[in-house]
Amino acid sequence: MNQDRSHALFTRAKDLIPGGVNSPVRAFKSVGGEPFFAQRAEGAYLYDVDGNRYVDYVGSWGPMIAGHAHPQVLTAVEKTMRDGLSFGVPNALEVTMAEAITSIVPSCEMVRMVNSGTEATLSAIRVARGATGRSRIIKFEGCYHGHGDSFLVKAGSGVMTLGLPNSPGVPAALADLTLTLPYNDFDAATRLFNDAGNEIAGLIIEPIVGNANCILPRDGYLQHLRELCTKHGTVLIFDEVMTGFRVALGGAQQRYGITPDLSTFGKIIGGGMPVGAYGGRRELMEQVAPSGPIYQAGTLSGNPVAMAAGLATLELIQAPGFHDALERNTHALCDGLEAAAHAAGIAFTTTRAPGMFGLYFRHGPVETFEDAKASDTDRFNTFFHAMLERGVYLAPSAFEAGFMSSAHGPAEIKHTLEAAQAAFGTL
Ligand code: PMP
Repeated sequence: MNQDRSHALFTRAKDLIPGGVNSPVRAFKSVGGEPFFAQRAEGAYLYDVDGNRYVDYVGSWGPMIAGHAHPQVLTAVEKTMRDGLSFGVPNALEVTMAEAITSIVPSCEMVRMVNSGTEATLSAIRVARGATGRSRIIKFEGCYHGHGDSFLVKAGSGVMTLGLPNSPGVPAALADLTLTLPYNDFDAATRLFNDAGNEIAGLIIEPIVGNANCILPRDGYLQHLRELCTKHGTVLIFDEVMTGFRVALGGAQQRYGITPDLSTFGKIIGGGMPVGAYGGRRELMEQVAPSGPIYQAGTLSGNPVAMAAGLATLELIQAPGFHDALERNTHALCDGLEAAAHAAGIAFTTTRAPGMFGLYFRHGPVETFEDAKASDTDRFNTFFHAMLERGVYLAPSAFEAGFMSSAHGPAEIKHTLEAAQAAFGTL
């Protein structure tokens, strides 16, 4: 496969941008080799600057649930941008977006728009701290909530991929306020709350962990956390930046029937534009400035073009049967991959939720962070490149979930499974 132009761009980029990229996992550091540079994208496909085409299972890391460059999203963006790119005063699309989010996610009685998932989570934690008057928070090993200081403690995603779970530059005094728990361990959570529950402002969790590959909650686990938080006056925050509007229209909280106090969103609600949001119980959200004293702001927050892209995407995913089809296709892909691996005699398993999945080079089941870490990453890296050569782009890390969109249909799944058959054969 010719990647001369990507190589030339990466050479220039490395001299000017740390690692040549504006977000670490894009650099292919853990899988080896060099990233390709995108020229354009359409539906389920990415096209690079050398003219290669890939079935894309990253989807810009989540936003492109309706496929790349969906005509309805592009039309909404084009129409909106003609009226101006940013106003710095309120605009009607922000109200429409707030109505859309609060009607789709009933636990969000009020919502505030921001510009990224990172902003959403650090704002939510500030609300939890401000509202409770407590300082400590709980997060889970392998969960990633963006790069805010309080979250770079035993984090997943790129920090895990690169082996940097605790980042330099985060003051110890702040990191010490972040307590961590093993995901899916009922007793560890009970013990920690018994010891320190009355000091914990907020507990933040990816209800389905998508940043340590893809780990689903055990039966009753999220309910257990809900009860502990209620009992100890701790604000329960579901970080649905990845799962929101994906694993069900109303996110993981709808899928599992749990009502968090606060939720964070990103990715899909921007339809590919830089957007995040946090929302929740009215009594908590009313404490945010200017209605309350907890400060949070943003020059470009509620940007009209971003709202237009997000609203068009939210409209597409409300089509009848959208998430059912996504779920069926995710199963078809994962079942097919498992069958191909087992036919080649390779220890391999998958985890899935509608529109997202994990690939593991080990026997199942995978239910904890330790299970996920025990996947054979060397094998994954070889498989990743064997798939890339065959025109299939998987997440360039053994610790990132894969994503499907409504544009991934039988043709793309067939191509992927044929590629996988050949790729497993090379391992
Ligand atoms: N929370 C979760 C669950 C995420 O997956 C991510 C990003 N992958 C973030 C927060 C941070 O979002 P952003 O990259 O938009 O800052």
